[in-house]
Amino acid sequence: MSTWAIIVAAGSGTRMGAAQSKTLVPLLGVPAIRRACEPFSAVCEGIILVIRPQEQPLFEEALRGMNVTFAPGGETRRQSVENGMRLLPETCRWVLIHDGARPLVTETLVKRVLEKAQASGAAVPALCVFDTVKQADETGRILKTVDRQRLFTVQTPQGFSKDALTEAYLLSFGAATDDAAVMEQAGFPVLIAQGDPRNIKLTTAEDITMAEKLLAQGFPRIGFGFDVHRLVEERRLILCGVDIPYEKGLLGHSDADVALHALMDALLGACALGDLGAHFPDTSQEYLGVSSLLLLKRVNELLASRGFIPYNADITIVAQQPKLAAHIMAMRQSVASALGIDISFVSVKATTTERLGFEGRGEGISASAAVLVIQG
Ligand code: MG
Repeated sequence: MSTWAIIVAAGSGTRMGAAQSKTLVPLLGVPAIRRACEPFSAVCEGIILVIRPQEQPLFEEALRGMNVTFAPGGETRRQSVENGMRLLPETCRWVLIHDGARPLVTETLVKRVLEKAQASGAAVPALCVFDTVKQADETGRILKTVDRQRLFTVQTPQGFSKDALTEAYLLSFGAATDDAAVMEQAGFPVLIAQGDPRNIKLTTAEDITMAEKLLAQGFPRIGFGFDVHRLVEERRLILCGVDIPYEKGLLGHSDADVALHALMDALLGACALGDLGAHFPDTSQEYLGVSSLLLLKRVNELLASRGFIPYNADITIVAQQPKLAAHIMAMRQSVASALGIDISFVSVKATTTERLGFEGRGEGISASAAVLVIQG
C-alpha cells in the first residue's frame, strides 16, 4: 500500500528567460526543486523526478543527499507523466503527481491531498475563486458573468489510486494540462481538497520574488548591538532618550545615547543593513548633537520600508554611577514609543561591574542590546 510521488520538472525556463529548468533557481539559497521534493520525503516511499536528461547532473547537485529516481521528460506533459509512471514499482498503490515549479508545497498539503485521494480514489487541491469571473469573445467584449460559486483554481500535488490513473491514461487521448483532466476524460470521479494559497507556481521572474517573500514571511531575525561612550563633565546624560540627572554626561557627536546606539545597531544587524555609523556618519554636521531618539525613529522607518517589524528589545546598560533604577520605566516607555511597540516587549536593565574596568571606574558607560525582528 505504498505511496510514490512523481514530480515533473521537464519544462524549460523560457517564460522566465532562463536557459535551464526554472525549478533549479535558488529560493533563499535552496534550489526550488529541492523545496518542491522535500515535503514528499516523509510521506512517500519513493520520488520519481521527470527531467530533461541533459540536465540530470544539475538536478543531482540540487538534490544532493536525497533519494530520487530520474525519468526522462517527453514531448508533452502527458508523456512526461507517463514516463514517470513506468518507473512506479508493483507495490505502489497511491500516486501523488506534483509540478516541480511549485516549491512552496508543504507536508501538510501533501498529507491532506493523499488522505482525500485514499478515501475517494482521486483528489486535487483547489482554491475558491474570489474575483468576479467574466467570459469574453475574441474581440474582448464580455459575453457573460460566470457564476464563481462553483469555480476553483487547481494546484498540485494531485493524488490518485495508481490503478485508476493507469487506466485513465490508457482510456484518454486528449490534451490535458493536469492529471485530474485525464481522470475526468476517462470518467473517473475526482474530488476537491482544500488547497494552499501560498502554494504558488513559478511561471515568470516576478514569481521568484514573490516565492522568496512568502518563504521569508514570519521568520524572526535576531540582532545584537554594543556601544561605549566616555563620561565627561559639562554634558547631559541621556539614556534611552531619557534625561538622567548626573554630574557628568556622555561624550559623542550626537547626544551620545549609548543605549539607543546599541539598540539601533542591533536592529540594523538583525536586518543585515550595516551599522549606525554607515547610516548617520559622525562626520556629518546634520547629526551634530542630534537626539538619538530621532535616529531610532529613522532606523525604524528604514526597517519598515524593507518589510521588517521589531518584535522585542532587551537592553543592558553597564554603569557604576548613577543609579538608574528610578528611570527604568521612563526608558522602556521611550523606546517602546519610538519603535511603535508595546512596553511589555521592551526591557531595559542596568548593572554595574563591581568597580572593575572602565565602567567600574566611572570613565564611561557601555550598553548592549538584543532584538528580534519579524519579516512581515
Ligand atoms: Mg555610539
